[in-house]
Amino acid sequence: MDHFLYRDGILHAENVPLPAIARDVGTPVYVYSAATLLRHFRLFDEALSWGPHLVCYAVKAASNVAILKLLGDAGAGMDVVSEGEYRRARAAGVPGDRIVFSGVGKTEAEMRHVLAHGVRQINLESEPEMRLLSRVATEMGVTVPVTVRVNPDVDAKTHEKIATGRSDNKFGIPIARAREVYAEIAKLAGLRVVGIDVHIGSQLTDLEPFRQAYRKVADLTGILRADGHPIERLDLGGGLGIPYARSNLAPPVPSEYGQVIREEVGHLGCEIEIEPGRLIAGNAGILMTSTIYMKEGEGRDFLIVDAAMNDLIRPAMYGAHHDIVPIVETAPGTDRRPYDIVGPVCESGDTFAKGRDMAPLGAGDLIAMRSAGAYGAVMASEYNSRPLVPEVLVQGDRYAVIRARPTLDEMISRDTIPQWLSEA
Ligand SMILES: *Cc1c(COP(=O)(O)O)cnc(C)c1O
Repeated sequence: MDHFLYRDGILHAENVPLPAIARDVGTPVYVYSAATLLRHFRLFDEALSWGPHLVCYAVKAASNVAILKLLGDAGAGMDVVSEGEYRRARAAGVPGDRIVFSGVGKTEAEMRHVLAHGVRQINLESEPEMRLLSRVATEMGVTVPVTVRVNPDVDAKTHEKIATGRSDNKFGIPIARAREVYAEIAKLAGLRVVGIDVHIGSQLTDLEPFRQAYRKVADLTGILRADGHPIERLDLGGGLGIPYARSNLAPPVPSEYGQVIREEVGHLGCEIEIEPGRLIAGNAGILMTSTIYMKEGEGRDFLIVDAAMNDLIRPAMYGAHHDIVPIVETAPGTDRRPYDIVGPVCESGDTFAKGRDMAPLGAGDLIAMRSAGAYGAVMASEYNSRPLVPEVLVQGDRYAVIRARPTLDEMISRDTIPQWLSEA
């Protein structure tokens, strides 16, 4: 469920008619619903209410500081994968002891920053990383809580680019080597084992891979405890999928996911951490765009819109589906025809949808790409020298620009010409 609904034939974000935002901010623009973001966070929080837990929002899904502030104020922790994301979370007022630092390639500088400013735990992904963190922590005179991300070798049955829990992925250490690795950590100064971490992929629409992975983590908990390691926390990652097409069967909901967690690891007495990103932000955001031209091609019609693959790369990168709807609701009985909906970028991959049935649209008409809140704005670029897409947050009947569209001059003035080229 989200808060993008038609009222009197106009698509609204909560109580705000989207054409008002288009007039004010222009298009393309991302629009987020605060009520939807909060609702999704609370569903996860409630799903784990049977025991001690912390829902750490995966910042990479949608990392605007305003979104982090909204969720952080509601009690969310944060899962970050870079110093930049860590700084965003802190700028949003999230305390260090609610921030988990994940990622396969943390640098020494990043470690130093989070150790100096406070972190709940660092999820380690390799032996060289453990040794480096041990040295850094020792030099800084601190002891850092750590988990090891284990790779459980389960097939998440998702898109190959977002599967992370198979033995041929770059993530974590093979679960079969976990005992050795924990034994080494126990000997390293500056590190304090607090638990185990696992994350098997994104956009999972079946609970079975989660169940398999969590069962392996439960077994490992017993083994590591017997070896004398204090396993008090289980970080179970993110990855629960969302319904991108309204016509499809809905994936499992957070309460069912919470039940699987309870069944597989609930008896261990551990504090549970989860790191959902997509499910919190995905359906909480749309990308609003205007049509520029309607172009009749050979046997197909193109709707050329002012958003492009640089603003929303998911269709080009993952072949992802987004529902696309007109902001002014189509009257019942209107004839529809198939359109290829494409952006202006000079690549054939700049196609949002093929053969999508829509009522005829004219230049300047507004449309929304739904379910664009996660891995949308955060993956935007300036390809084709298109300024970074702006973001707007709606809450009730208020809205605010939370990231302004840079002017073309601002974009260009970041480039500098070397002295030797300016010499006449
Ligand atoms: C990407 C990622 C997440 C979030 O995944 P979603 O599918 O957005 O829920 C959580 N944890 C880690 C370590 C990740 O890399």
